[in-house]
Amino acid sequence: MSVTPPPRSPITQLARWDAVARVLHVIRRSDRVTRSELVEATGLSRAAVDQAVNQLLGRGLVVLSAVGASAGGRRPGLVSFNARAGFVFGIDVGATSVHVALCDLAAVPVARREAVADVRQGPRVVLAQVKALTTDLLEIHGIRATQILGIGMGLPGPIEFSSARPAAPPLMPGWDGVDVASFFRPEFACPIHVDNDVNVMALGEQWAGASRGVANSVVVKVGTGIGAGIISDGRLHRGADGCAGDLGHIEVDPNGPVCHCGNRGCIEAMAGGAAIGRLALRAAEDGSSPFLVERLGVTRSLTARDVAEAAQHGDQAALEIIRSSGRLIGRVLAGAVNLFNPSLIVVSGGVCGLGHLFLSGIREVVYRRSTALSARRLEIRFSDIQDTSGVVGAAILSIEELFATGGVGRASNDGVAEPAHPRRPATKRLVPAGRRRRRTRPVTAL
Ligand SMILES: [Zn+2]
Repeated sequence: MSVTPPPRSPITQLARWDAVARVLHVIRRSDRVTRSELVEATGLSRAAVDQAVNQLLGRGLVVLSAVGASAGGRRPGLVSFNARAGFVFGIDVGATSVHVALCDLAAVPVARREAVADVRQGPRVVLAQVKALTTDLLEIHGIRATQILGIGMGLPGPIEFSSARPAAPPLMPGWDGVDVASFFRPEFACPIHVDNDVNVMALGEQWAGASRGVANSVVVKVGTGIGAGIISDGRLHRGADGCAGDLGHIEVDPNGPVCHCGNRGCIEAMAGGAAIGRLALRAAEDGSSPFLVERLGVTRSLTARDVAEAAQHGDQAALEIIRSSGRLIGRVLAGAVNLFNPSLIVVSGGVCGLGHLFLSGIREVVYRRSTALSARRLEIRFSDIQDTSGVVGAAILSIEELFATGGVGRASNDGVAEPAHPRRPATKRLVPAGRRRRRTRPVTAL
């Protein structure tokens, strides 16, 4: 299998990149900031800050804007981030769909495209679909491929982050060990970062969703599969091999149905989207759900969406399927709460369409089975950006890696010798109190 040599980013080739990155880190998290504030926040000398700002101005990554308040002398110029200095693609590959967003450098989607896809058709077919969407977006918006500074992608399976390759993904036959980034060469010469889809969603929630500003949170995706992305002390926790949070295959019933991973009674096989469809079929076949009997007669198959609709009509069997699925997931999450002590669990994924009863099933068991202390401040809620958390998170994965300190020569996570581990510049809390901030962002570090 060929390994595509990772391109060096022209940005990380700036002189004294680490100092520049520290300055940029502060500017990106501020609305507008003075050079004196940059000195204070980075601990760099005034000369180093000036040099870094000048380099960033030269690259168009920052702009000088209106003047700040005068402290008696000359009024200081304000520096702000130019999010339109380039673009990135945030790509979310799900089991049954692909979603591509052209984003600015603040991870704000400029335009999005989605398509139905089947990840089981293998990387050649699915990534060709993704590429067609990227080409479409570039053409429509008159953007050249060279203006794309990075590509971030989430895939629905375990990813060895150090090599950017799927590692024996149960839902993705044909993807094991595939060099995903090579599919985007030579059209895109930018760094390409690949991670698990739920990790990417957790980054999206942290940047633009419910877990903004929350130091310890878990995003749980309940769709075709079940997985979690863990933010620990403000950072994405990938674990030793990149598969932290893969809780879909935790056993909840040793006598339960066989899971596609080969084991029996995994939570995914008991309460994931496919399991809910199977329970719906059983309720239709044994006649316990009049609604689902009728629906099956029309559609010949049943999904979680049919169960949600049945529940809205007060169908008791459907209500019970939803409640018990929520409770089973709650059992697994209670263990996660005891182990990790998050203050927020964000529930996302297609199964969210099951509605509040599903969430209350989760809450009921988590609060009952977690220790009193770990549950005291715990909030459990649905995502309110679930349509975009994947693509925004993939974009921010790409952007944070692009602008990371220590990033020289480490441009992609595809085949780079140096581990692309999270690192955070040693900046102090920036932005003086009282300055208006456009967004209250957590200190994101990847
Ligand atoms: Zn399993």
